[in-house]
Amino acid sequence: MSAVTDFYGSGVNLNGGQFGAYRTPTRRHRGQDISHSSKPGTVAVPALHAGRVISKTVPGPTHGFGYSIVIRSVLDGMEFDFRYAHGPWASQQAIGEEIPQGKIILHEGNSGATSGSCVHIEQQRVGGGFLDPLGEIRSVAAGRLTAPAPKPAPTPAPAPAPAAVRSVRKGDKGALVSAVQARLKRDYPLYASRLVVDGEFGSKTDAAVREFQRRAGLTVDGIAGPKTLARLGL
Ligand SMILES: [Zn+2]
Repeated sequence: MSAVTDFYGSGVNLNGGQFGAYRTPTRRHRGQDISHSSKPGTVAVPALHAGRVISKTVPGPTHGFGYSIVIRSVLDGMEFDFRYAHGPWASQQAIGEEIPQGKIILHEGNSGATSGSCVHIEQQRVGGGFLDPLGEIRSVAAGRLTAPAPKPAPTPAPAPAPAAVRSVRKGDKGALVSAVQARLKRDYPLYASRLVVDGEFGSKTDAAVREFQRRAGLTVDGIAGPKTLARLGL
């Protein structure tokens, strides 16, 4: 009795141990009981699904769980808390510990309010109500595995900083020539009157830039070559 499929494929008590069974006029059974032996402490209980340990209880007057452990599992993108109750002794797992599916987390027992040695399993939607855990029990008995936790989304690359007004993107010829024109007008008034915005490679722009290049002693390296751009501070 170690494989999770063997455990959950047998011992399901549907004779009063099922979800919703009558308990008192105001209370119904909130979980599913599973029992493989009448002797407490002789049957290990594997975790129905992988998850994280949320809480544990010891026998006390405020509840009937006896020794119990609650494991939060993510199934199909939704969070559920599974409580396993009535253990003969405290679970060894620590709060916050990640539990793989099938890990032994309790033994069948009779601590708390129970009429015999068993494990009482509750399934509660986090932030919601209780469900009949029999569906999950049957699914796991049939081989359902806890889906691996989704990988966290990759950290998006930081958005590029907004381009400064003066910046010229490589290959953006229109912006490049406009920037050259603007810089010549601002810093080299000699050309201001002759430099009119006349399109990406308009003849006036071309002539003005080439004259600037010649007077500046620059090797003509195209209408907006690297030397020209460097000299203009672009
Ligand atoms: Zn029960």
